[in-house]
Amino acid sequence: MVELAMPRIVRLEEHVVNRIAAGEVIQRPVSALKEMLENSLDAGSTQVVVTVKEGGNKLLQIQDNGHGIARDDLHLLCERHATSKLRSFEDLQGIGTLGFRGEALASISFVAHMAVTTMQHDAVHGLSASYRDGIMDTGSPTPCAAVPGTTITVEDLFYNVLTRKKALKNGTEEYSRILDIVSRYAVFKAGTGFTVKRQGEARADLHTLPSASRLDNIRAIYGPGVANSMLALKHSVGDMAVASSSSFSSDGPVFTAEGYISSASHQGKRSTFILFINGRAVDCSPLKRAIDAVYTTVLPKAAKPFVFLELTMPGSHVDVNMHPTKKEVGFLHQEDVVDGLRAAVEHQLLASNNERTYTQT
Ligand code: ADP
Ligand code: MG
Repeated sequence: MVELAMPRIVRLEEHVVNRIAAGEVIQRPVSALKEMLENSLDAGSTQVVVTVKEGGNKLLQIQDNGHGIARDDLHLLCERHATSKLRSFEDLQGIGTLGFRGEALASISFVAHMAVTTMQHDAVHGLSASYRDGIMDTGSPTPCAAVPGTTITVEDLFYNVLTRKKALKNGTEEYSRILDIVSRYAVFKAGTGFTVKRQGEARADLHTLPSASRLDNIRAIYGPGVANSMLALKHSVGDMAVASSSSFSSDGPVFTAEGYISSASHQGKRSTFILFINGRAVDCSPLKRAIDAVYTTVLPKAAKPFVFLELTMPGSHVDVNMHPTKKEVGFLHQEDVVDGLRAAVEHQLLASNNERTYTQT
C-alpha cells in the first residue's frame, strides 16, 4: 500500500490572511479607486479630483473636500473591520453610506503603499500619515499645511502580488475603467464636481461642475448627441412611505425609478447602462438584458442605447452585502421590478415616437 503524506491543518499567519482577503476586495486599480471615491462621497464632498498614472498601477490619488478624518481616528484608518459607518448588524438594513465594512483602505494598504493627508474644516492645520499592512508606519500623524478635506495617495499597487501586477500591465484599459466608474457617479451625483486627469497632463479627461444638473453632466461626459436624445423616465410602483416605515417586506414590489433613456432616434455606437440602486452604482444583468431587448425592437441593428436609471427601494428590500466589491445588490421581487421597468421603458419609447410622428405631420 502506498502511504499518503497526511497534510496537517495550521492557522495561516495574519499577514497571509490579510493579503488574500485584500485580493478579493481590490481586484484591480479601478476597485481601489471606486472604494476611495465612495469614501469621498460618504464624507459629503462636493469636489473630487482623481489623478492617475499608468492606469492606476503606478499612482492613484483622490483629493476631496469632505469632512476629513479626526486625528484620533487616523491610527484605525487602515485597520481591518474598523469603520465610522456601522455599529450593529441591524444598521446594514437601509444603510445611508456607501461603505460599511471597514475593509477597503485596509485592503489597499496590504497590496500598495498608501499616504493620507487630511484636515477637518475647523482645524488650523492638516495631518499626514502613511500606511503599510494595516498599520500607520509613521508611528503618529505629522502636522502639515493642507486644505480642508482628505487626499489619499496609493502607489505601486500589487507591488507584493506579482501575478496580479503582471495581469494588469495595460494601463490604458485600466484608465478607461476608472473613467467609466467616475462618469457614472458624476451623472448620478449632481451637486458634486468631479475631475479625472492623468498625472502631468494639464487637461482633464473628465470634468463636471458642482452646479451642473444630471443632464448637463450627461452632455459634458457622453456628448451632446446623447444628451439631446434623452427622454426623462419616471415610474413608481407601490407606496414607498408605507413600505419604508415597516421593517417587514411587503407582498409585492415597491420602488421608484427615475432617469434618462435615449430615444429611438439615437444610434449610439456603444451601449451605456448606468444603474444606481439606493445610491449605489451596481450591475444587474437581468435588467440590462430586458431593457436591451426593448431597444432591439425599435433601433436599427448595431445601434446602441444609453440608459441611466436610479432605483429607490425600501431598505428592507435590498441586501447590500452580496458581493465583496459591492458591485451587485440583491433585492426582493426582482422579476417584477425588471418587468415593470421594461414596460416603463417601452412605454416611454413608444410615446415619444408617436409624439414625433404627430409633430411631423
Ligand atoms: P468603510 O468605508 O467601509 O467604513 P474604509 O476602509 O473605506 O471603510 O474606510 C475606513 C474609514 O476611514 C471610514 O469609515 C471613514 O471614517 C474613513 N475615511 C476613509 N476615507 C475617507 C475620506 N475620504 N474622508 C473622510 N473619512 C474617510
Ligand atoms: Mg469605504
